[in-house]
Amino acid sequence: MSESHHTKVLIIGSGAAGYTAAVYAARANLQPILVRGLQPGGQLTITTDVENYPGFADPVQGPWLMEQMYAQAKNVGTAMFDDTIVSVDLSKRPFVAVGDGGVTYTGDTLVIATGASARWLGLAGEQKFMGFGVSACATCDGFFYREKPIAVIGGGNTAVEEALFLTNFASKVTLIHRRDALRAEKIMQDRLFKHPKIDVMWDSVLDDVIGTEQPLGVTAARVRNIKSGEITDLPVDGIFVAIGHDPNTKLFSGQIDLDAEGYILTKAGTTQTNIAGVFAAGDVQDKIYRQAVTAAGTGCMSALEAEHFLANLEARQEAAA
Ligand code: NDP
Repeated sequence: MSESHHTKVLIIGSGAAGYTAAVYAARANLQPILVRGLQPGGQLTITTDVENYPGFADPVQGPWLMEQMYAQAKNVGTAMFDDTIVSVDLSKRPFVAVGDGGVTYTGDTLVIATGASARWLGLAGEQKFMGFGVSACATCDGFFYREKPIAVIGGGNTAVEEALFLTNFASKVTLIHRRDALRAEKIMQDRLFKHPKIDVMWDSVLDDVIGTEQPLGVTAARVRNIKSGEITDLPVDGIFVAIGHDPNTKLFSGQIDLDAEGYILTKAGTTQTNIAGVFAAGDVQDKIYRQAVTAAGTGCMSALEAEHFLANLEARQEAAA
Protein backbone atom coordinates (compact mmCIF):
# COMPACT_ATOMS: atom_id res chain seq x y z
CA MET A 1 0.00 0.00 0.00
CA SER A 2 1.31 3.47 -0.81
CA GLU A 3 2.37 5.85 1.97
CA SER A 4 -0.29 8.17 3.37
CA HIS A 5 -0.48 10.78 6.14
CA HIS A 6 -3.51 12.32 7.78
CA THR A 7 -3.74 15.60 9.68
CA LYS A 8 -6.34 18.02 10.96
CA VAL A 9 -4.64 20.86 9.07
CA LEU A 10 -2.87 20.20 5.80
CA ILE A 11 -0.83 23.13 4.50
CA ILE A 12 0.49 23.26 0.94
CA GLY A 13 3.24 25.82 0.42
CA SER A 14 6.26 26.99 2.38
CA GLY A 15 6.43 30.76 2.02
CA ALA A 16 5.64 33.27 4.76
CA ALA A 17 1.93 32.33 4.59
CA GLY A 18 2.41 28.57 4.86
CA TYR A 19 4.97 28.71 7.67
CA THR A 20 2.90 31.18 9.70
CA ALA A 21 -0.22 29.03 9.27
CA ALA A 22 1.88 26.09 10.51
CA VAL A 23 3.12 27.98 13.59
CA TYR A 24 -0.42 28.89 14.62
CA ALA A 25 -1.92 25.48 13.83
CA ALA A 26 0.87 23.67 15.68
CA ARG A 27 0.52 25.92 18.72
CA ALA A 28 -3.22 25.15 18.70
CA ASN A 29 -2.18 21.49 19.01
CA LEU A 30 -3.60 20.59 15.60
CA GLN A 31 -0.40 18.75 14.52
CA PRO A 32 -0.30 20.25 11.04
CA ILE A 33 1.43 18.74 8.04
CA LEU A 34 3.18 21.17 5.71
CA VAL A 35 4.20 20.10 2.20
CA ARG A 36 7.00 22.38 1.07
CA GLY A 37 6.81 22.19 -2.74
CA LEU A 38 9.25 22.91 -5.53
CA GLN A 39 10.72 26.10 -4.09
CA PRO A 40 10.96 25.61 -0.32
CA GLY A 41 10.78 28.98 1.40
CA GLY A 42 9.03 30.61 -1.54
CA GLN A 43 9.80 33.93 -3.17
CA LEU A 44 11.76 35.35 -0.24
CA THR A 45 14.47 32.78 -0.90
CA ILE A 46 15.28 34.51 -4.19
CA THR A 47 15.44 38.00 -2.76
CA THR A 48 18.27 39.70 -0.91
CA ASP A 49 17.84 42.45 1.68
CA VAL A 50 14.48 42.52 3.44
CA GLU A 51 14.07 45.76 5.31
CA ASN A 52 10.31 45.98 5.70
CA TYR A 53 9.55 42.84 7.70
CA PRO A 54 8.75 44.09 11.19
CA GLY A 55 10.96 43.15 14.09
CA PHE A 56 14.37 43.68 12.52
CA ALA A 57 16.05 47.05 12.91
CA ASP A 58 18.63 46.22 10.23
CA PRO A 59 18.00 44.53 6.88
CA VAL A 60 17.90 40.73 6.98
CA GLN A 61 18.49 38.33 4.10
CA GLY A 62 15.37 36.74 2.57
CA PRO A 63 16.75 33.16 2.63
CA TRP A 64 17.78 33.57 6.28
CA LEU A 65 14.32 34.86 7.21
CA MET A 66 12.72 31.82 5.59
CA GLU A 67 15.11 29.43 7.36
CA GLN A 68 14.01 31.01 10.63
CA MET A 69 10.32 30.65 9.75
CA TYR A 70 10.91 27.02 8.77
CA ALA A 71 12.75 26.27 12.03
CA GLN A 72 10.09 28.07 14.08
CA ALA A 73 7.25 26.11 12.44
CA LYS A 74 9.16 22.83 12.90
CA ASN A 75 10.12 23.56 16.52
CA VAL A 76 6.50 24.08 17.55
CA GLY A 77 5.47 20.73 16.09
CA THR A 78 4.79 20.93 12.35
CA ALA A 79 5.47 17.79 10.34
CA MET A 80 7.42 18.95 7.28
CA PHE A 81 7.43 17.05 3.99
CA ASP A 82 9.73 17.85 1.07
CA ASP A 83 7.30 16.85 -1.62
CA THR A 84 5.51 18.51 -4.52
CA ILE A 85 1.76 18.10 -4.75
CA VAL A 86 0.67 17.11 -8.24
CA SER A 87 -3.07 16.55 -7.74
CA VAL A 88 -5.77 17.39 -5.23
CA ASP A 89 -9.34 16.32 -4.58
CA LEU A 90 -11.34 19.03 -2.86
CA SER A 91 -14.74 17.45 -3.56
CA LYS A 92 -15.10 15.91 -0.10
CA ARG A 93 -13.54 15.83 3.37
CA PRO A 94 -10.92 14.86 4.22
CA PHE A 95 -9.32 16.76 1.37
CA VAL A 96 -6.73 14.77 -0.54
CA ALA A 97 -3.39 15.89 -1.97
CA VAL A 98 -1.01 13.55 -3.79
CA GLY A 99 2.74 14.14 -4.04
CA ASP A 100 4.83 13.49 -7.15
CA GLY A 101 6.18 10.25 -5.66
CA GLY A 102 2.66 8.97 -4.97
CA VAL A 103 2.49 9.82 -1.24
CA THR A 104 -1.06 10.79 -0.21
CA TYR A 105 -1.78 13.54 2.32
CA THR A 106 -5.28 14.00 3.73
CA GLY A 107 -6.52 16.92 5.79
CA ASP A 108 -9.75 17.66 7.66
CA THR A 109 -8.96 21.22 6.62
CA LEU A 110 -6.65 22.53 3.94
CA VAL A 111 -4.63 25.75 3.81
CA ILE A 112 -3.54 26.64 0.29
CA ALA A 113 -0.40 28.80 0.44
CA THR A 114 1.21 28.01 -2.89
CA GLY A 115 2.15 31.63 -3.64
CA ALA A 116 2.92 33.11 -7.01
CA SER A 117 5.62 32.68 -9.67
CA ALA A 118 7.49 35.05 -11.93
CA ARG A 119 5.69 36.13 -15.08
CA TRP A 120 7.33 35.96 -18.52
CA LEU A 121 6.84 38.12 -21.61
CA GLY A 122 6.16 35.16 -23.89
CA LEU A 123 8.84 35.97 -26.49
CA ALA A 124 10.38 33.12 -28.47
CA GLY A 125 13.88 34.41 -27.67
CA GLU A 126 13.06 34.53 -23.97
CA GLN A 127 12.23 30.83 -24.00
CA LYS A 128 15.25 29.94 -26.12
CA PHE A 129 17.80 31.74 -23.96
CA MET A 130 16.26 30.96 -20.57
CA GLY A 131 19.14 29.96 -18.32
CA PHE A 132 21.58 31.11 -21.02
CA GLY A 133 21.34 34.86 -20.54
CA VAL A 134 17.64 35.25 -19.72
CA SER A 135 16.60 34.98 -16.08
CA ALA A 136 13.89 36.03 -13.62
CA CYS A 137 16.11 35.83 -10.56
CA ALA A 138 18.92 38.30 -10.02
CA THR A 139 19.97 36.70 -6.73
CA CYS A 140 20.28 33.31 -8.41
CA ASP A 141 22.05 34.38 -11.60
CA GLY A 142 23.53 37.87 -11.09
CA PHE A 143 26.91 36.41 -10.20
CA PHE A 144 27.38 35.20 -13.80
CA TYR A 145 27.45 38.75 -15.16
CA ARG A 146 30.56 40.15 -13.52
CA GLU A 147 31.66 43.31 -15.40
CA LYS A 148 29.07 42.71 -18.14
CA PRO A 149 26.17 44.90 -19.28
CA ILE A 150 22.70 43.75 -18.26
CA ALA A 151 19.09 44.79 -18.94
CA VAL A 152 16.21 44.52 -16.50
CA ILE A 153 12.61 44.60 -17.74
CA GLY A 154 9.84 46.09 -15.57
CA GLY A 155 9.03 49.11 -13.44
CA GLY A 156 7.84 47.66 -10.12
CA ASN A 157 9.66 47.03 -6.85
CA THR A 158 11.06 43.75 -8.09
CA ALA A 159 12.60 45.29 -11.22
CA VAL A 160 14.14 48.17 -9.29
CA GLU A 161 15.41 45.89 -6.53
CA GLU A 162 16.94 43.53 -9.10
CA ALA A 163 18.54 46.42 -11.02
CA LEU A 164 20.13 47.75 -7.83
CA PHE A 165 21.31 44.30 -6.77
CA LEU A 166 22.81 43.62 -10.20
CA THR A 167 25.03 46.70 -9.93
CA ASN A 168 27.11 44.57 -7.54
CA PHE A 169 28.24 42.56 -10.54
CA ALA A 170 27.40 44.25 -13.83
CA SER A 171 29.41 46.92 -15.62
CA LYS A 172 26.13 48.67 -16.45
CA VAL A 173 22.41 48.03 -15.86
CA THR A 174 19.70 49.35 -18.16
CA LEU A 175 16.16 49.30 -16.83
CA ILE A 176 13.66 48.99 -19.67
CA HIS A 177 10.14 50.11 -18.79
CA ARG A 178 7.03 50.33 -20.93
CA ARG A 179 5.81 53.62 -19.44
CA ASP A 180 7.37 56.93 -18.47
CA ALA A 181 6.99 56.41 -14.73
CA LEU A 182 7.88 53.58 -12.35
CA ARG A 183 5.42 51.97 -9.98
CA ALA A 184 8.16 51.02 -7.50
CA GLU A 185 8.20 52.70 -4.07
CA LYS A 186 9.64 56.20 -4.02
CA ILE A 187 12.60 55.26 -1.81
CA MET A 188 13.57 52.54 -4.30
CA GLN A 189 13.18 54.91 -7.24
CA ASP A 190 15.46 57.46 -5.57
CA ARG A 191 18.16 54.83 -5.11
CA LEU A 192 17.79 53.76 -8.73
CA PHE A 193 17.96 57.24 -10.23
CA LYS A 194 20.99 58.14 -8.11
CA HIS A 195 22.96 55.05 -9.08
CA PRO A 196 25.82 55.82 -11.49
CA LYS A 197 25.70 52.36 -13.09
CA ILE A 198 21.96 52.46 -13.95
CA ASP A 199 20.25 53.94 -17.01
CA VAL A 200 16.52 53.86 -17.73
CA MET A 201 14.96 53.41 -21.17
CA TRP A 202 11.45 54.83 -20.85
CA ASP A 203 8.40 53.95 -22.97
CA SER A 204 10.26 50.90 -24.21
CA VAL A 205 9.53 47.21 -24.52
CA LEU A 206 11.66 44.16 -25.18
CA ASP A 207 10.77 42.98 -28.67
CA ASP A 208 13.23 40.11 -28.89
CA VAL A 209 16.36 38.57 -27.46
CA ILE A 210 19.36 38.47 -29.79
CA GLY A 211 22.11 35.93 -29.26
CA THR A 212 24.54 33.35 -30.53
CA GLU A 213 23.82 29.67 -31.13
CA GLN A 214 27.18 28.20 -30.17
CA PRO A 215 27.71 28.76 -27.42
CA LEU A 216 24.08 29.63 -26.68
CA GLY A 217 24.14 33.11 -25.21
CA VAL A 218 22.61 36.58 -25.29
CA THR A 219 24.35 39.45 -27.08
CA ALA A 220 21.64 42.13 -27.24
CA ALA A 221 18.18 43.19 -26.18
CA ARG A 222 16.06 44.32 -29.13
CA VAL A 223 14.15 47.24 -27.66
CA ARG A 224 11.24 49.12 -29.27
CA ASN A 225 10.25 52.60 -28.21
CA ILE A 226 6.46 52.41 -28.15
CA LYS A 227 6.05 56.15 -28.84
CA SER A 228 8.50 56.58 -31.74
CA GLY A 229 8.58 52.96 -32.96
CA GLU A 230 12.38 53.17 -33.05
CA ILE A 231 14.18 49.83 -32.65
CA THR A 232 17.48 49.66 -30.74
CA ASP A 233 19.72 46.63 -30.25
CA LEU A 234 21.13 47.26 -26.80
CA PRO A 235 24.32 45.21 -26.27
CA VAL A 236 23.85 43.11 -23.12
CA ASP A 237 24.98 39.73 -21.84
CA GLY A 238 22.01 39.19 -19.58
CA ILE A 239 18.30 40.08 -19.52
CA PHE A 240 16.37 39.88 -16.26
CA VAL A 241 12.60 39.82 -16.64
CA ALA A 242 10.82 41.31 -13.59
CA ILE A 243 7.29 42.04 -14.73
CA GLY A 244 5.27 40.63 -11.86
CA HIS A 245 3.85 37.31 -10.85
CA ASP A 246 1.06 34.84 -11.52
CA PRO A 247 -0.63 32.85 -8.74
CA ASN A 248 0.24 29.15 -8.49
CA THR A 249 -3.29 27.81 -8.78
CA LYS A 250 -3.20 25.42 -11.77
CA LEU A 251 -3.45 22.52 -9.34
CA PHE A 252 -6.80 23.76 -8.05
CA SER A 253 -8.39 25.06 -11.22
CA GLY A 254 -11.87 23.65 -11.83
CA GLN A 255 -12.18 22.69 -8.14
CA ILE A 256 -12.21 26.05 -6.38
CA ASP A 257 -13.42 29.55 -7.29
CA LEU A 258 -10.69 31.67 -8.93
CA ASP A 259 -10.88 35.21 -10.28
CA ALA A 260 -10.16 36.10 -13.92
CA GLU A 261 -6.40 36.30 -13.23
CA GLY A 262 -6.33 32.93 -11.48
CA TYR A 263 -6.15 34.15 -7.85
CA ILE A 264 -8.17 32.11 -5.33
CA LEU A 265 -11.26 34.02 -4.25
CA THR A 266 -11.74 34.41 -0.51
CA LYS A 267 -14.65 35.87 1.46
CA ALA A 268 -13.93 39.49 2.37
CA GLY A 269 -11.96 39.85 5.59
CA THR A 270 -11.27 36.10 5.83
CA THR A 271 -9.19 33.41 4.14
CA GLN A 272 -12.25 31.20 3.51
CA THR A 273 -12.68 29.93 -0.01
CA ASN A 274 -15.97 28.77 -1.53
CA ILE A 275 -15.23 25.27 -0.13
CA ALA A 276 -15.98 24.85 3.58
CA GLY A 277 -12.75 23.86 5.33
CA VAL A 278 -10.42 25.09 2.56
CA PHE A 279 -8.55 28.32 3.26
CA ALA A 280 -6.17 30.33 1.08
CA ALA A 281 -3.37 32.52 2.42
CA GLY A 282 -0.62 34.70 0.97
CA ASP A 283 0.07 35.63 -2.64
CA VAL A 284 -2.12 32.86 -4.03
CA GLN A 285 -5.14 34.95 -2.99
CA ASP A 286 -3.63 38.45 -2.82
CA LYS A 287 -2.96 40.54 -5.88
CA ILE A 288 -2.96 43.84 -4.04
CA TYR A 289 -0.49 43.81 -1.15
CA ARG A 290 1.78 40.80 -1.88
CA GLN A 291 4.14 41.48 1.00
CA ALA A 292 5.86 39.00 3.27
CA VAL A 293 4.12 40.54 6.26
CA THR A 294 0.65 40.39 4.69
CA ALA A 295 1.30 36.80 3.61
CA ALA A 296 2.27 35.98 7.20
CA GLY A 297 -0.85 37.81 8.41
CA THR A 298 -3.21 35.85 6.20
CA GLY A 299 -1.35 32.65 7.08
CA CYS A 300 -2.14 33.35 10.73
CA MET A 301 -5.81 34.05 9.83
CA SER A 302 -6.09 30.79 7.91
CA ALA A 303 -4.89 28.70 10.86
CA LEU A 304 -7.24 30.46 13.28
CA GLU A 305 -10.12 29.97 10.86
CA ALA A 306 -9.21 26.29 10.39
CA GLU A 307 -9.19 25.89 14.17
CA HIS A 308 -12.68 27.45 14.42
CA PHE A 309 -13.93 25.29 11.59
CA LEU A 310 -12.70 22.12 13.30
CA ALA A 311 -14.14 23.15 16.67
CA ASN A 312 -17.56 23.78 15.07
CA LEU A 313 -17.36 20.49 13.23
CA GLU A 314 -16.65 18.60 16.45
CA ALA A 315 -19.49 20.43 18.22
CA ARG A 316 -21.89 19.47 15.41
CA GLN A 317 -20.72 15.85 15.48
CA GLU A 318 -21.19 15.67 19.27
CA ALA A 319 -24.67 17.21 19.00
CA ALA A 320 -25.64 14.66 16.33
CA ALA A 321 -24.33 11.69 18.36
P1 NDP B 1 4.40 44.67 -10.06
O1 NDP B 1 3.13 44.09 -10.56
O2 NDP B 1 4.39 45.63 -8.94
O3 NDP B 1 5.18 45.35 -11.26
C1 NDP B 1 5.29 44.73 -12.50
C2 NDP B 1 6.00 45.69 -13.44
O4 NDP B 1 6.18 45.03 -14.67
C3 NDP B 1 5.20 46.96 -13.70
O5 NDP B 1 6.05 48.05 -13.76
C4 NDP B 1 4.55 46.67 -15.04
O6 NDP B 1 4.39 47.82 -15.83
C5 NDP B 1 5.58 45.79 -15.73
N1 NDP B 1 4.94 44.86 -16.65
C6 NDP B 1 3.93 43.99 -16.42
N2 NDP B 1 3.64 43.28 -17.52
C7 NDP B 1 4.48 43.71 -18.48
C8 NDP B 1 4.67 43.39 -19.84
N3 NDP B 1 3.93 42.44 -20.44
N4 NDP B 1 5.63 44.04 -20.53
C9 NDP B 1 6.39 45.00 -19.94
N5 NDP B 1 6.25 45.36 -18.66
C10 NDP B 1 5.31 44.73 -17.93
O7 NDP B 1 5.30 43.37 -9.72
P2 NDP B 1 6.59 43.25 -8.81
O8 NDP B 1 7.04 41.85 -9.00
O9 NDP B 1 7.54 44.33 -9.06
O10 NDP B 1 6.04 43.41 -7.34
C11 NDP B 1 5.01 42.53 -6.86
C12 NDP B 1 4.65 42.93 -5.44
O11 NDP B 1 5.73 42.60 -4.57
C13 NDP B 1 4.38 44.41 -5.29
O12 NDP B 1 3.34 44.58 -4.36
C14 NDP B 1 5.66 44.94 -4.73
O13 NDP B 1 5.49 46.10 -3.97
C15 NDP B 1 6.12 43.77 -3.87
N6 NDP B 1 7.59 43.79 -3.72
C16 NDP B 1 8.09 44.44 -2.64
C17 NDP B 1 9.43 44.52 -2.44
C18 NDP B 1 9.92 45.26 -1.26
O14 NDP B 1 9.13 45.84 -0.57
N7 NDP B 1 11.21 45.30 -1.01
C19 NDP B 1 10.39 43.89 -3.37
C20 NDP B 1 9.76 43.26 -4.49
C21 NDP B 1 8.40 43.22 -4.64
P3 NDP B 1 3.32 48.98 -15.45
O15 NDP B 1 3.93 49.72 -14.32
O16 NDP B 1 3.22 49.75 -16.70
O17 NDP B 1 2.06 48.23 -15.08
